[in-house]
Amino acid sequence: MSDGHRKRALVTGGAGFIGSHLCERLLADGHDVICMDNLLTGDLANIEHLFGNERFRFFHQDVTNYIHVPGRLDFILHFASPASPRDYLELPIQTLKVGSLGTHKALGLAREKGARFLLASTSEVYGDPQVHPQHEEYWGHVNPVGPRGCYDEAKRFAEAMAMAYQRHHGVETRIVRIFNTYGPRMRLDDGRVLPAFMGQALRGEDLTVFGDGSQTRSFCYVDDLVEGILRLLHSSEKMPVNIGNPNEMTIRQFGDAVLKVTGGKSKFVFHPLPQDDPKVRKPDISKARRVLGGWEPKIGLDEGLRRTAEYFRGRVQKPKA
Ligand code: UDP
Repeated sequence: MSDGHRKRALVTGGAGFIGSHLCERLLADGHDVICMDNLLTGDLANIEHLFGNERFRFFHQDVTNYIHVPGRLDFILHFASPASPRDYLELPIQTLKVGSLGTHKALGLAREKGARFLLASTSEVYGDPQVHPQHEEYWGHVNPVGPRGCYDEAKRFAEAMAMAYQRHHGVETRIVRIFNTYGPRMRLDDGRVLPAFMGQALRGEDLTVFGDGSQTRSFCYVDDLVEGILRLLHSSEKMPVNIGNPNEMTIRQFGDAVLKVTGGKSKFVFHPLPQDDPKVRKPDISKARRVLGGWEPKIGLDEGLRRTAEYFRGRVQKPKA
């Protein structure tokens, strides 16, 4: 049978947290999916349930090297990158390489195949923002030589590269700026606040709050993000779009919410605030609402945390009594 009607999508970083949810959703939407990952921070466990699907393939390749994908491609979703502050502190060169060289290779492939390209960018392009909430026209406040510089500048470069391929080569590009997202398949040891607090709450340990915990973030459940990304992919919007949940809270309030959902009784223990840790972060999602057919986050924090806790419960080792 001809597969003329079926679309074929490549997801780089497809074995990661967000990448694996995207692979799942693209398969559910009826597409053929190639997942590419070098498994540096991704994990085969995130996609092993997809291996039985004949429309799913896994390529163990590093997108910073020349990538070869035989056959047609309609979509390339470029999600490969370390994405937690701890990961990119430990892997600064790989982070810079995948954002720059990897994006170049993925865009080259999109050009060759005539595929639409979607870049996973980040709220980190706004740095420690002086405009609040952050809208897409804000250029940001980024320290290029600080510990987050390798990630922030790689993603800023990646956005510039996508725009250059769009303007110069006519490649159809989309850019999503992803704000803090959480859900099942986050790595327990990636250092981000959600897996840290979940693990600690479920083990009955104190929650490690950095600084005084008054810094804010706005947390989006992964399914809401994926819905927004898919709508962006299929939209005609060529400029960056923020996707996130504008429900802003302090890190202490977030800790309380995790304790409520897990039934934990832990206390907070305070650690120094990491350098350049943004003091506030909240997406302005008016553009997403406007250009993505009324998209809105639908999963509230309690429900999202409940689903996430269910995932982590089976994975957290309780210390022996
Ligand atoms: N954070 C914390 N305790 C932790 C891990 C993180 O208080 O164990 C704080 C961190 O300093 C930041 C916020 O939680 O202010 C979110 O951190 P995360 O690493 O999840 O992502 P970021 O939004 O900083 O990229």
